[in-house]
Amino acid sequence: MSAADNLSFVRSEIAKAARAAGREPESVTLVVVSKTFEAADIRPVIAAGQRVFGENRVQEARGKWPALKAEVPDIELHLIGPLQTNKVKDALDLFDVIHSLDRPSLAAELAKEFAKREGRRPRLLVQVNTGAEPQKAGVLPEEADAFIARCRGDHGLAIDGLMCIPPFDENPAPHFALLAKIAARNGLDQLSMGMSADFATAIAFGATYVRVGSAIFGHRA
Ligand SMILES: *Cc1c(COP(=O)(O)O)cnc(C)c1O
Repeated sequence: MSAADNLSFVRSEIAKAARAAGREPESVTLVVVSKTFEAADIRPVIAAGQRVFGENRVQEARGKWPALKAEVPDIELHLIGPLQTNKVKDALDLFDVIHSLDRPSLAAELAKEFAKREGRRPRLLVQVNTGAEPQKAGVLPEEADAFIARCRGDHGLAIDGLMCIPPFDENPAPHFALLAKIAARNGLDQLSMGMSADFATAIAFGATYVRVGSAIFGHRA
């Protein structure tokens, strides 16, 4: 199966999961995760009509996306990995959505850079470490409300929604449910949750962005 074939399969699975949940398929945006893959691998997926892509490293994205964006101007690029404060400027030049706002120092740096720039500002999602895993980025669930309030109040940042990456070896459903609950009580519409193995479950719990890599490009080296 080619990546383009996989893309159409994933699209139909997304539509199926959405309808099963009584939702419109268009309410779910597929973010195709192209990390570790090169422009030559990505071009056929763009040619098949995909426009929304995710990368987890600023540096890697800088290496391949400016050229691809020059070829296809309506690409929307999402940062789904951790963002160091010294890479914020580069990230703002490249990304349309940042899924990994996870600490006060990053909120402060984003606010500082936004104040210097006219126009285009990426949409922001707060990452929540729903499994409270020490090695994983994200604010703890019990700290999420205060962090969101601080982003809005102290830094004047508009927050669009929340993102999570459930623990690898657990049933993801309770994590998706928790993220949806935190979003609802904070008046947030966007939920970035669900990857290749569990996007259908995430859609049942209200995902509006699913981040799918290996189901489209195959296994990463
Ligand atoms: C790599 C990655 C994905 C995609 O994972 P697959 O299992 O390949 O679909 C999704 N979200 C994040 C944050 C990632 O780093």
